Amino acid sequence: MGTVLGGRMQIQQLEAYAKKYWTNAASPVIQYYRKGWFSFRFSAEEDMNTVLKGGPWNMGPHTLILKRWSPTFSQEMESITTVPIWILFPNLDPFLWSSSTLSKLASKIGKPLFADLPTTCKAKLSFARVMVETDIAEPLPDELLFSTPYHEISSQRVTYEWMPYYCENCKKLGHTKDHCKPYDTGKQQDKTNPKGKKRKKTPTVTSPTLVPTYHIRMLQAQEARS
Ligand SMILES: [Zn+2]
Repeated sequence: MGTVLGGRMQIQQLEAYAKKYWTNAASPVIQYYRKGWFSFRFSAEEDMNTVLKGGPWNMGPHTLILKRWSPTFSQEMESITTVPIWILFPNLDPFLWSSSTLSKLASKIGKPLFADLPTTCKAKLSFARVMVETDIAEPLPDELLFSTPYHEISSQRVTYEWMPYYCENCKKLGHTKDHCKPYDTGKQQDKTNPKGKKRKKTPTVTSPTLVPTYHIRMLQAQEARS
C-alpha cells in the first residue's frame, strides 16, 4: 500500500514513476484504494521487498510512503502514523554487529523490516542501517540502553535518516501543527522533512518483539540509570 505525502497523484503518474525508478523490480499493478492510498500489487515478493527497501521514495517535492498490506490496514488507514523509516546506529560496537543483535536493538524503535545490504555484509562499519516500521506519533529515542554479555550498561546512539512530518493537531502525516489546515483537505503544501526531524526523548526500552537475542539484554531505562 502506498500514499503520497504532500500531494495528490494519479495512477498514471505512479505507474510512470514505478517504471522509471523501480528498475530492479517488475512493475506492480497500481490501483486506487481509498482515502489517498493506492495498492501496489507485485507479482513477486522479492520485487516488493526491493521496492520497500528503496523507500521512502521522493517524487519531486512529495514523498511516496509504502507499507506492506496487513489485515488491519483498512481499519487503521485513516490514522496511519506507523510507517517504515531507516534508522542508523552510528559507530556501532563490533560485538553488536550481528543480525540478531541489530534486530533486537532496532525492535526498541519499531518493527525491524530490513537491514540494508552494506550493513548485512558488514561492508561499511561506520554505522548500521536498519529499516523499521515505527509509530512516528510517538517520540523516538536518540539513544538506547542495554546490558552487554558482561553485564555492563552500554548505550547506542540512534539517528533517523528521514521522517515524515507529523501533525499533533489532526494526527496526520505530511505536515506539522503549524501548517495544519484541518478544513482544507485538498491543497496542503509539501511539508515532508528531508533532513529528518529531530525529536528528543529519554531512552525507553520496551519488551522485545522480534528476535530473541543471545548477545544482549535490553533494560528498562530507569533500571539502567539507577
Ligand atoms: Zn494537521
